[in-house]
Amino acid sequence: MNLLFIGPPGSGKGTQSKRLREKFGLAHLSTGDMFREAIANQTEVGLKAKAFMDRGEYVPDSVVIDLIRVRLKEKDCANGFILDGFPRTEPQAVALEHLLSDMHKNLDHTLFFDVKTEMLVQRLSSRRTCRNCNRVISFEQIQTDAGKELCKKNVGTPCDFYQRSDDDADVVKKRIEVYQKQTAPIIDFYKNKTGFLKLDAALPEEQVFEAIDLALREK
Ligand code: AMP
Repeated sequence: MNLLFIGPPGSGKGTQSKRLREKFGLAHLSTGDMFREAIANQTEVGLKAKAFMDRGEYVPDSVVIDLIRVRLKEKDCANGFILDGFPRTEPQAVALEHLLSDMHKNLDHTLFFDVKTEMLVQRLSSRRTCRNCNRVISFEQIQTDAGKELCKKNVGTPCDFYQRSDDDADVVKKRIEVYQKQTAPIIDFYKNKTGFLKLDAALPEEQVFEAIDLALREK
C-alpha cells in the first residue's frame, strides 16, 4: 500500500504517519526528517537545506527530488510507503509521477489533512519534538504521562524534547504562507484521482487515525 499525505505544516501528517508505519509496516518517507538528519550529520544535502529551512522556505526542487529518487528505491519501500511532506510543489508532483511510473508503482490513497490556519499557528508554536526518535507532543503535555514515555530510539531514556527552530512563531507564519502559495494549488491535481480523501485534521489525533484506518480498510 502506497500512501501520499498532503497538508499544511502542523496538520498531523507526521504523527499519523508514525502510527500507520507501525500498524501496517510501511516505510515512512518524511523529507523534513531526512533534511533534519542530514543537517545533524552535516552532510552536503544538510548544508544546502539548512538556510532555506531556517527561513521557512522550501528547499530547491532538484535537491528534494534527488533525495526521494534514491529513497524510493530502498528495500523497505517494497512493502509500501507513506510520502509525508513530498511533493510540495508542481515540479515535485510531476517528478513523482515519473518516478512511480518508472518503478511500475501507484499511489493507492492520497489523504489531504485539512486544518484552518489559526489552529496551525497555535499547534506549531507549542509543538515539541524528541531529538532522538522524532516523537511530537505539545509543550503542555511534557509534564503529563505522555511526556514521560520512554524514547523509542535511545532505549531506556526519556525523550529529549526541543522546539524546532522553524516552529518559532515568525517562521511558522512564513511556512504557512509558502504552503498556501506553492502546495495548496497541487491539491487540485490529486483531487480527481482515485483514492483521494479529505480529512478533518482539526479533530483529535485518535479520531483522525480512526478515519484513516477506516478509509484504508474500505479499499
Ligand atoms: P516538515 O518537517 O515536513 O515540516 O519540513 C520542514 C522543512 O523542510 C520545510 O519547511 C522545508 O524547508 C523543508 N522541506 C521538507 N520537505 C520539502 C519538500 N518536499 N520540498 C521543499 N522543501 C521541503
